[in-house]
Amino acid sequence: MLDGAGKTLQPILGDDCGRDAQIILAHVLGISTASLRMRSCETVSADQVADFEIKIAQRAAFQPVSQIIGMREFWGREFIVTPDVLDPRPDTETLIEAALELPSPNRILDLGLGTGCILFTLLAEWRDASGVGVDISSDALSVAGRNAQALNVADRADLRLSNWFENIDEKFDLIVSNPPYITASEMNDLSRDVADWEPHVALTPGGDGLDAYRIIAAQASSHLNAGGNLMLEIGWQQSESVSDLLKRHDWSDLRILRDLGGNTRVICAKSPKI
Ligand code: GLN
Repeated sequence: MLDGAGKTLQPILGDDCGRDAQIILAHVLGISTASLRMRSCETVSADQVADFEIKIAQRAAFQPVSQIIGMREFWGREFIVTPDVLDPRPDTETLIEAALELPSPNRILDLGLGTGCILFTLLAEWRDASGVGVDISSDALSVAGRNAQALNVADRADLRLSNWFENIDEKFDLIVSNPPYITASEMNDLSRDVADWEPHVALTPGGDGLDAYRIIAAQASSHLNAGGNLMLEIGWQQSESVSDLLKRHDWSDLRILRDLGGNTRVICAKSPKI
């Protein structure tokens, strides 16, 4: 079954088709991919075959694997994923790694919650912290709400429909965000997996891709306690332009971190000294 699926999908999906087919098959059978590989023969029901075929057809229509199986692992935990939210990406784990080097903050704000992968990972790691997560999409917020329940952090996570700081009137110790940052012209070059299936509002603010950073650089300091930290994911070519924006608004102690691929991926800054 695997080989057959792999051969059919190869021209469409390229080198990853065998791996994708394995993940989908393991999901349909309700077992891990590791135990799938250890079995030479598996008895499957007609329903499972039909389910597998439907899911392979979805993949052939470029739907991301995480949307097909309904989840994606991030920092060792499973997050529910639907077409209403950005698929959590390993690049974003760079931000988690950097944040966890800080002493535990009391209050965290996540701007553009999506699945909630950033805020809920931090709340799961810092058991005494609580936070607010905002998103402009009510559909994304309902996915985030399910993730907060599943990860047992719902009692410490206040989820709000908000366009950036619109419905925020309190202060935090740490503000995090992986805002939409793809430029209008880069949107034309996205793979079909992303362009056809992921929410564009989560991917791009249009234009030069910097509008979210303009808002955050200008407004985040009035929502940070003294000595508070800001951590932003950025596109691989944006470290200079986002640094300039932050400097213009008097943010201090700027640090730029690289992801595992060696690209600049996260900017950290301290609240401007008043
Ligand atoms: N915070 C979520 C993530 O990092 C969603 C980000 C977004 O929608 N731009 O995956």
